[in-house]
Amino acid sequence: MQTLSTTLLIIGGGPGGYVTAIRAGQLGIPTILVEGQSLGGTCLNIGCIPSKALIHVAEQFHQTRHHSQQSALGITVSAPTLDIGKSVEWKDGIVDRLTTGVAALLKKNKVQVIQGWAKVVDGKTVVVGDTRIICEHLVLATGSKSVNLPILPIGGPIISSTEALAPTSVPKRLIVVGGGYIGLELGIAYRKLGADVSVVEAQERILPAYDAELTQPVHDELKKLGVKLYLRHSVQGFDSSANTLQVSDPNGDTLNLETDQVMVAVGRKPNTQGWNLEALNLDMNGASIKIDNRCQTSMSNVYAIGDLSGEPMLAHRAMAQGEMVAELISGKSREFNPTAIAAVCFTDPELVVVGKTPNDAKAAGLDCIVSNFPFTANGRAMTLESKSGFVRVVARRDNHVIVGWQAVGVGVSELSTAFAQSLEMGARLEDIGGTIHAHPTLGEAVQEAALRALGHALHL
Ligand SMILES: Cc1cc2nc3c(=O)[nH]c(=O)nc-3n(C[C@H](O)[C@H](O)[C@H](O)COP(=O)(O)OP(=O)(O)OC[C@H]3O[C@@H](n4cnc5c(N)ncnc54)[C@H](O)[C@@H]3O)c2cc1C
Repeated sequence: MQTLSTTLLIIGGGPGGYVTAIRAGQLGIPTILVEGQSLGGTCLNIGCIPSKALIHVAEQFHQTRHHSQQSALGITVSAPTLDIGKSVEWKDGIVDRLTTGVAALLKKNKVQVIQGWAKVVDGKTVVVGDTRIICEHLVLATGSKSVNLPILPIGGPIISSTEALAPTSVPKRLIVVGGGYIGLELGIAYRKLGADVSVVEAQERILPAYDAELTQPVHDELKKLGVKLYLRHSVQGFDSSANTLQVSDPNGDTLNLETDQVMVAVGRKPNTQGWNLEALNLDMNGASIKIDNRCQTSMSNVYAIGDLSGEPMLAHRAMAQGEMVAELISGKSREFNPTAIAAVCFTDPELVVVGKTPNDAKAAGLDCIVSNFPFTANGRAMTLESKSGFVRVVARRDNHVIVGWQAVGVGVSELSTAFAQSLEMGARLEDIGGTIHAHPTLGEAVQEAALRALGHALHL
């Protein structure tokens, strides 16, 4: 067995791990990164990027089909056909470009990448195949895995988001189990690709993590698209001989839903199994590794970042933690204390939550002004054929400091940047209301929400 020594050893090459490595390399820290599968992790290979690529394909197909039927825009086009194999090839091309780019960045920053599955020996020793690696600092960034339902084991017609992102054909009927963001993003995409889609959700609303006012436009669009919703229904099992999913309705009666595929999307859990993490006997926080505000675990010089360290399980949080940990190891003084981390659902319409919602503010004992500005009064939204949705601002009544932004509407994912910046900079309603926003943009609704909170919206 060969032995390597390094200052920093990172397990996992997802957005958390690879960003740690790049920043460490920039800071001149000798770094080894171990990745068992593919650089870029869940995000680049089977998560954020491929899902958004498939959503784009679905949207283009849907729009073209829409124009082939009735186009208010005066476009005439014949009914489109879809070569899903080509779509997947295009998506794979993007994934390939990005993962190759990550490899190049790691090389440029002199990070040694070892391909293989790491097993922890102790807080300073990891084994990969027949290589032992000894380090001063260990960063655990092994990510997360889909939660499986024992009654719906993945295989054949039962798929997870991973299989849904690499279809060989579009099923005639698809049932999505789980009305969270992953289930809905992909469910809507499949509907737009032509499948009959149903969503089974145990809670009484889709996207139950968000408030009803915010999710209503998504709910309305699902109805318009013809997605069937089985809310307050729970799954009992799958009969493979009859291709039916058994679900119980709110009265306890069983329904047999015929389908060709079932996609299970009931959440993700930290990946703590199978790499001898037990050897470290770290303090846990439920299913995730407990960390402090420097991402330190209960063992000194051992850090945990990204999905492994719990919610919110988002790529940009993992990256920000990784960047900070590399700087800490280099001797800089840092802590992870963001005012807010944006959460975006790339549904139709899109949904963004940054900072405190009205309910969060109330729970925190804050007396707040809450103000909405609807996209029905925004010119740019109209030119994008987008009529639903709004921007909502939540600001303290006493000093007008903004504590939260939410938005739902076409293209609002791009507003998340402005929202996060205003919160990190401690902006007040007057700062946003007094900033000239370009016309015509969706961003004008951000300014107008702030003006409306001050009692003088201009276009409403
Ligand atoms: C369908 C889908 C869509 C998503 N969309 C979004 C989105 O739009 N925006 C967003 O912010 N987030 C999204 N996410 C979540 C996002 O992918 C994760 O939050 C992010 O990837 C977490 O990064 P990470 O570095 O913690 O872990 P991961 O990306 O999971 O990377 C962990 C890496 O560690 C490797 N590994 C694990 N164990 C070992 C070991 N023992 N030895 C060596 N290597 C190991 C794995 O192979 C993996 O490559 C999505 C997820 C899914 C599934």
